[in-house]
Amino acid sequence: MKQKTAFVIGITGQDGSYLTEFLLAKNYQVVGLMRKTSAVPSSHVAHLANKIHIAYGDLLDTFSIAENIRSYQPDEIYNLAAQSYPGESWRLAIETAEITGIGAHRVYEAVRYVKPDCRIYQASSSEMFGTPTIVPQNEQTPFAPVNPYGAAKLYAHTMAEIYRTSYKLFIACGILFNHESPRRGIHFLTQKVAYGAACIKLGILNSPDLNEQGEPIVKDGKIALGNLDAKRDWGFAGDYVEAMWMMLQHDTPDTYIIGTGEVRTVRQLCETAFSSLGMDWQKYVVVDPRFIRLTETGTTVADAAKAKTELGWSPRTSFTDLVKMMVDHQIRRLKNHSN
Ligand code: NAP
Repeated sequence: MKQKTAFVIGITGQDGSYLTEFLLAKNYQVVGLMRKTSAVPSSHVAHLANKIHIAYGDLLDTFSIAENIRSYQPDEIYNLAAQSYPGESWRLAIETAEITGIGAHRVYEAVRYVKPDCRIYQASSSEMFGTPTIVPQNEQTPFAPVNPYGAAKLYAHTMAEIYRTSYKLFIACGILFNHESPRRGIHFLTQKVAYGAACIKLGILNSPDLNEQGEPIVKDGKIALGNLDAKRDWGFAGDYVEAMWMMLQHDTPDTYIIGTGEVRTVRQLCETAFSSLGMDWQKYVVVDPRFIRLTETGTTVADAAKAKTELGWSPRTSFTDLVKMMVDHQIRRLKNHSN
């Protein structure tokens, strides 16, 4: 069988790196789009450097996307690139619209002109639901985003569906709920908690890594967080990339909800992380109003029944194992840095 080529846009990110490992194991040739400002050695794909091709480009630049597609002729494109921080999307509202929203649209246009038989995966998000009144959410739940990130994702999602219907492009959309891993960006809540717990366990009372406000994530032995009552459906990124691939192997392009169906509060996240190190989270976590979003996303929890029935996908990693994996990784990372 002919070796397939996958073009991964956003290869340096959390999902891009797990997906690349997954595709290489399936004998794909993987080409990753990177910005000139990114560097392979410091990225999550550093360990794969000699197994992948790197193409330079930017979602802000249609020509760079089209030219790479023309030159590599991929069978599948995974658009994972985004300004991906919902909480920071008010401060970066225009950048978020440009990259997360119109950037995806640029990919569809490039494919339409250059390689219309190529299959596209678009990374949609549960943030498109905003504050849903229906819990859990499925593919029919109405969208009503409450932050610029959710709005930009909804634009990209809507254009995907329009291009699927109007131009018959194969664009599958995964509405993914929060998924985490040791490779999660340091400003995401789960990673801040895992990192903070690890620092405190090792006696680091002012951490080298900074939060979104430019202050140590652990300051004077405390981690500052926003709304502790916020509820999320958290899964493991390594499980979710398989669903992306499965969507592109399906006969027809469609939209699928991907999540665990289990909901937990930020409090429970803190409790799980600190207790995995034998500590009481309440001594170390403080609420800082600066980390409370201007408008809070509601309770998002996935009903992934369609993905289970049609694709045969189910999550494998439990919440407790996921949190422990992240905390243990941070302990190892901090110990290595201090050596
Ligand atoms: P991530 O770790 O933040 O990775 C984002 C990627 O986008 C990075 O590789 C980044 O490259 C790239 N990127 C940013 N701006 C770009 C631009 N202008 N041109 C080209 N590349 C650019 O995100 P992730 O967690 O892997 O998520 C993958 C996708 O799923 C994102 O679209 C995210 O919004 C979406 N999503 C994520 C979740 C989640 O819980 N993780 C849930 C739903 C949807 P640099 O290295 O150059 O910065």
